[in-house]
Amino acid sequence: MERKIIHVDMDAFFAAVEQRDNPEYAGKPVIIGGDPTKRGVVSTASYEARKYGVRSAMPLREAYKRCPEGIFIPGNMEKYKEISWELQRIFYDFTPIVEPLSIDEAFLDVTGSQRLFGTPEEIGRRIKECIKEELRLTASIGIAGNKFLAKLGSDLEKPDGFVIIKSEDVEELLAPLPVSRIWGVGVKTEAYLNRIGIKTIGQLRAIPLEYLEKIFGSMGQELYNLARGIDNRPVQAFSEAKSIGREVTFEEDIGDIEKLYVSLLDLSQQVGRRLRKSEKAAYTVTVKVRYQGFETHTRSKTSQVQIDLGNQIYEVVRQLLDEMGLRGRRVRLVGVYVSNFISASAPRQISLLDNRDSRRRQLEDTMDKIKDKFGEDAISTANLLGRKYTRE
Ligand SMILES: [Mg+2]
Repeated sequence: MERKIIHVDMDAFFAAVEQRDNPEYAGKPVIIGGDPTKRGVVSTASYEARKYGVRSAMPLREAYKRCPEGIFIPGNMEKYKEISWELQRIFYDFTPIVEPLSIDEAFLDVTGSQRLFGTPEEIGRRIKECIKEELRLTASIGIAGNKFLAKLGSDLEKPDGFVIIKSEDVEELLAPLPVSRIWGVGVKTEAYLNRIGIKTIGQLRAIPLEYLEKIFGSMGQELYNLARGIDNRPVQAFSEAKSIGREVTFEEDIGDIEKLYVSLLDLSQQVGRRLRKSEKAAYTVTVKVRYQGFETHTRSKTSQVQIDLGNQIYEVVRQLLDEMGLRGRRVRLVGVYVSNFISASAPRQISLLDNRDSRRRQLEDTMDKIKDKFGEDAISTANLLGRKYTRE
């Protein structure tokens, strides 16, 4: 069966997030990177800023010269990582074969997803919709029979692009493109090819394989193939994750322990859900706490019983937190992780808490079903039970 690959690439990711979270920036040139009077480079420019000629990796001072009315902001990596997690969660809803290339782009092999989710086009459209609805951001999508063409496709109609490259169109599509559009052809290779008179992929195609091998060694064959739109590299799913976790950075450092509990319950629920989705159970729970400043502590506990419920995770988190004894200290970030996995289909040990656990399981099963149907934000036990914990 022919492979079906989707490449998803967020549009001006960091800048788009800031425009989303600060409506006053909408439609304005937003430049992420920091103070334009200081050293440093642009990390992302919004499409409005790009009209002024501002580009990623450009010195901030140069960006300021080109666009003095730009909104220069330092950016918030923790927040972007958080959203990147959300993005990956969307991908994993459609295929387990996800290869993240960076914080805002990934390859998805959807060859085996078609029976469940429809054609690659339908899957691509749904991913785009999910990103729009759940993250309120736009992505550009490329769909093709291999990674090179899928990545090329996502770049062709940016922003908010959606391009399907059919195998019969490949030759015509590639021929006029500059050789730099070949994934892996860097500045040096491009300069060399240009010097010998090869500017387009079509021209590159005219060079015999032996000659390319003579110049580029083992890369010669790859160039030869890519010029013809041939790319056999598989999408390499993240090597089996060693841990699953979620963390949250607070806008203001938190001193109120009850508020922390609610956040940790929420994180525990999210981690439990991801565990169940990946059909695993875990033995080890880790909690991470970062205080005001950057002092960070982690503490783990390995349980005798398999854990896959948010409430089970939370119970261990509470014990760990009590052991850490953070009373009175202001907290900047908390995280909840689980590791030491076992497949969920392995026989379940009977827990002493079985009766209570079975009721919790029912509750979380119900929540899973609601979330599957109406989205992750549809229901949360932090909302349901948060009050209970503050009443204690
Ligand atoms: Mg991007």
